[in-house]
Amino acid sequence: MVASHTTPLRVYKNESVSVLLPLPLAGPYDYFVPPNLAVSAGDFVSIPLGRREIKGVVWGNSKGELERKKLRNINGLLDIPRMSNDLRLLIEWTASYTLSPLGAVLRMSMSVPSALEPPRRRTGFLPAANLNSGQTDSRNRLTNARSRVLSVLKDGCPRIAADLGREAGVNSSVIRKMSDIGLLRKIAIEDELNMDPIDESLKGPVLSDLQTNAASILVKRVQRSNENNNKKGFSVTLLDGVTGSGKTEVYFESIAATLAAGFQVLVLVPEIALTVQWLQRFQERFGTRPLEWHSDLTGLERRLTWRAIISDKARVLVGARSALFLPFRSLGLIVIDEEHDGSFKQEEGVSYNARDMAVVRARFGDFPIVLSSATPSLETFTNVKMGRYKRIALPKRFGGAILPEIQTIDMRLEKMSGGTWLSPCLKRAMKEALKDGEQVMLFLNRRGYAPLTLCRQCGHRFKCPNCTSWLVEHKLQHTLCCHHCGYSMIVPKICSECGAPSDSLVSCGPGVERVAEEVAEYFSEAQYEIMASDTMQSLKASKKLVRRVQACEVDILIGTQVMAKGHHFPNLTLVGVVDADLGLSGGDLRAAERTFQLLYQLSGRAGRAQRSGKALLQTFQPEDPVIQALISGERDKFLALEASARKRHGMPPFSRLVAIIVSGKDFKRVENVARSLGRASPSGTGLIVHGPAAAPLAVLRGRHRFRLLLRADRKINVQQKVRFWLSRVQIPSGVRVNVDVDPYRFL
Ligand code: ADP
Ligand code: ZN
Ligand code: ZN
Repeated sequence: MVASHTTPLRVYKNESVSVLLPLPLAGPYDYFVPPNLAVSAGDFVSIPLGRREIKGVVWGNSKGELERKKLRNINGLLDIPRMSNDLRLLIEWTASYTLSPLGAVLRMSMSVPSALEPPRRRTGFLPAANLNSGQTDSRNRLTNARSRVLSVLKDGCPRIAADLGREAGVNSSVIRKMSDIGLLRKIAIEDELNMDPIDESLKGPVLSDLQTNAASILVKRVQRSNENNNKKGFSVTLLDGVTGSGKTEVYFESIAATLAAGFQVLVLVPEIALTVQWLQRFQERFGTRPLEWHSDLTGLERRLTWRAIISDKARVLVGARSALFLPFRSLGLIVIDEEHDGSFKQEEGVSYNARDMAVVRARFGDFPIVLSSATPSLETFTNVKMGRYKRIALPKRFGGAILPEIQTIDMRLEKMSGGTWLSPCLKRAMKEALKDGEQVMLFLNRRGYAPLTLCRQCGHRFKCPNCTSWLVEHKLQHTLCCHHCGYSMIVPKICSECGAPSDSLVSCGPGVERVAEEVAEYFSEAQYEIMASDTMQSLKASKKLVRRVQACEVDILIGTQVMAKGHHFPNLTLVGVVDADLGLSGGDLRAAERTFQLLYQLSGRAGRAQRSGKALLQTFQPEDPVIQALISGERDKFLALEASARKRHGMPPFSRLVAIIVSGKDFKRVENVARSLGRASPSGTGLIVHGPAAAPLAVLRGRHRFRLLLRADRKINVQQKVRFWLSRVQIPSGVRVNVDVDPYRFL
């Protein structure tokens, strides 16, 4: 089932075609289709390149630059379904929008090379049929390790040696030995994913009137797109609901309707590690888990998932941003959860925003897309205002829960003793909540113990040898770490500059670990946990932590922004923000917007069930407009103010920015390229280039960095301008020029 524009594909036979390869090449190469083959655009083929054989995708008509006798033949057609039309269009669009090589974007869709190989049959193990428990023969003795292996296999499910070894905690030589001596028997297994069928007919929870109304509008949009195959299905809908309003339950209905019509669904989430509760709810609603796409997958899972997607076996996939480029066969709906989140923006390699490119994919595939958020981005908010996106509102929390009250604590008036970060006022409120058996969340957007270590004797500050950044102390690991490049060293015993003893080294400022120290001291009875990206690295670790919080085994949760997203802890009533000013001083384009979103989402964690909640913001500038907007709860007013400020300054979304980052090991060379780019920069009405200037992060991973920033009216084709601009400057080896269209970070 291919959504819409189904002009029959042209068949190429005995002629040349272009084939795109997943390599950083600007365009496809021509090949000849030998008489024994017939191919169409989207087919996966293997072709010769130099002496290698490479797999690529038939892209379309040949470019006709080479004569027939110079063309090499396509080697063969792979036994894999064709790449869909909407994905090919998306790849072209993304390459052209982000100014990336076409092949580099294709590579994001072909990120699992092994998935293109024919399925492998592998050797699995089961207990031998004649196994009796009383093996006494010394050779066959059931050691502890062997018993563990057998007990893993009790479920009757064969496993390959590596998996069996991992689950039983034994070396794979133990398994080979067990097979040799007849304790295990071999059996051939076909790889396959554990996929129970999804049951979209299961009934979800009974929706409130408000939710029913929202769901039925969404469902209608999905259904209309399915009935109509002539380019009427595309629509973008912002599901704009306060925290706890039940946005998830509402978009689940549109997922059910899409599945019922026979289409696949993609749900993009900011960070998959934060979806533990989401996965539980999906399972309750649809009777099984969706497929997942994230960095925790094993190579095998990745391969099987890729194949399940392209062969149309997978119905629903939830994933991080890179899932957008998976080769769905019959995609009929995309949902972007927390659409405002900055992690949809990829910075490395092809720098794209998955939310924006998802809208493009929906347009090409002619199906609806739902953007869900309690704090929509200014871009989306503006698109709604301009009538480009539709909006469905859920202004109330589900089940009568009321939104938390947000108050400030004016830190200029609080009496703080040295080395403490929690004000007496916040501590009182925490005490109250804990006394009533409620949970408390403390937020500070800084991992580790202290953001800076300095020597009292000589003033030396410990800094990363590879980057322009201070080393952050992580007390639990006894290290000083760079949060930009990952460099780390053991906390030194003496000052590396003057040799002063360790007691002259002082930790400056707080990180979550230091706040935890204060909590442990002041609330010695309470159980606390730290929730930060370094303690939530795997899905497993986050599952465990979320479960402990749900079971109320944790009284105080201390963490960074990973806490702000998606969690629903019914017993949590107080959110304390240790430093509400932290994000405001950032000074980049989205500083105010991001701070508002983060603090609003955080307060939204409180009071989500029967008990009402409160959020307390420690701030030195309670009169700041962002803080004021938060306490008055006037989100739309904040957005309108922010929008008019951006308009006044000609900033996005009312203009377009393109950042050019020049980097390399050799300072002089980098500087020269940056200056040449500056001299060659485009000019004209509605267009201005700032820089070059040394980047705020002037050195990163040992590479010097310069930045230029182009700002242009929206009607200007910036890609064309930048392409021409870059073509005018010679880039010597050792210098890299990265282009970032719609940048999010300005470091
Ligand atoms: P949001 O994403 O808007 O913050 P959620 O979808 O997470 O809100 O819903 C908040 C909580 O309310 C969840 O625990 C959810 O299970 C519950 N909830 C929402 N709608 C319903 C409903 N109709 N029936 C029962 N529980 C609901
Ligand atoms: Zn010193
Ligand atoms: Zn570093």
